[in-house]
Amino acid sequence: MIDFFKKNILLKNYTTFRIGGPAKYFFEAQTKEDLVKALKMAKKINLPFFILGGGSNVLFSDKGFNGIVIKIQCPNVKCKIKSKTQNSKIYAEAGVKLSDLVKLSLKNSLTGLEWATGIPGATLGGTIHNNAGAFKISIADIVKTVEVFDTADSKIKNLDVKQCNFGYKQTIFKQQKNLIILSCIIQLKKSTKEAVKKQIDYVLNYREKNHPMNFSSAGCIFENPLEIRAAELIEKCGLKGKKIGDAQISEKHANFIINLGNASSEDVLKLINLTKRQVKKKFGIEIKKEIQILNFNY
Ligand SMILES: Cc1cc2nc3c(=O)[nH]c(=O)nc-3n(C[C@H](O)[C@H](O)[C@H](O)COP(=O)(O)OP(=O)(O)OC[C@H]3O[C@@H](n4cnc5c(N)ncnc54)[C@H](O)[C@@H]3O)c2cc1C
Repeated sequence: MIDFFKKNILLKNYTTFRIGGPAKYFFEAQTKEDLVKALKMAKKINLPFFILGGGSNVLFSDKGFNGIVIKIQCPNVKCKIKSKTQNSKIYAEAGVKLSDLVKLSLKNSLTGLEWATGIPGATLGGTIHNNAGAFKISIADIVKTVEVFDTADSKIKNLDVKQCNFGYKQTIFKQQKNLIILSCIIQLKKSTKEAVKKQIDYVLNYREKNHPMNFSSAGCIFENPLEIRAAELIEKCGLKGKKIGDAQISEKHANFIINLGNASSEDVLKLINLTKRQVKKKFGIEIKKEIQILNFNY
């Protein structure tokens, strides 16, 4: 199978940050079977692997990745509309885009995913891995079961929502890198098209007003510490607009770093470290990064 892996593929083209050097090997899994095969092969030949969804929450090194990046496409979705019970279960594979699920929920007048409007490129797999969310809702609120491939024993398993250990930006998938998400079942509630549309418009409006949507970024860089928004702490340190190379702390939202065009991974890392130091100095708070940062030798 190694012959089927592509070689020296530029990762900047697969991340919303538009940063990242070449992956030594690269494979796009179109099906769950492809994905499992690639993972088994990587294990067999002892090749470090990294699973990539939409690349909307990662920073790759400019040196690239010295292993195999497995990009998950797996786009299948099945929606069971149960008007009697008011709830609908959706089976979706890990590579399904959040934006497509939002469209599907609007089409079927289902509520629960409106918060995900306007997140570019993100897949369901990456969203579950991170327990991504907004407006006090997260994917954990709608997940029922998650199908995983466990690279430790090469078995396919089904986890119920409790076994996923969902917490604020926390999941079992962050703790156990051997669990690769293949698919999941989510449950959405019946609503009306008008109500779902209203929420979607509200979220989109909010994001357009408050987020630097026209620039390349990886979303929020830091998790929010308890009781306070990281953006507020960063802003109070006077760091809004601070630039290193072509990386800049957004003028619009201080928890976003934007790529002005040719930012290097080093520019972003320096800005992250500067921000952490200044917040610690001024407030005594250690802010934790939310994005996944990958060194060449990850
Ligand atoms: C403009 C913008 C706005 C954003 N707004 C929000 C927001 O409101 N709320 C929020 O929480 N986040 C937000 N994000 C961050 C990001 O979109 C989410 O964390 C997202 O859900 C990540 O999904 P992804 O497919 O892009 O994952 P990736 O970035 O590709 O990967 C993220 C992590 O998940 C792992 N992963 C991916 N797929 C799988 C899988 N199938 N199995 C196991 N591990 C996997 C990767 O290895 C990596 O560690 C935003 C990002 C951008 C660019």
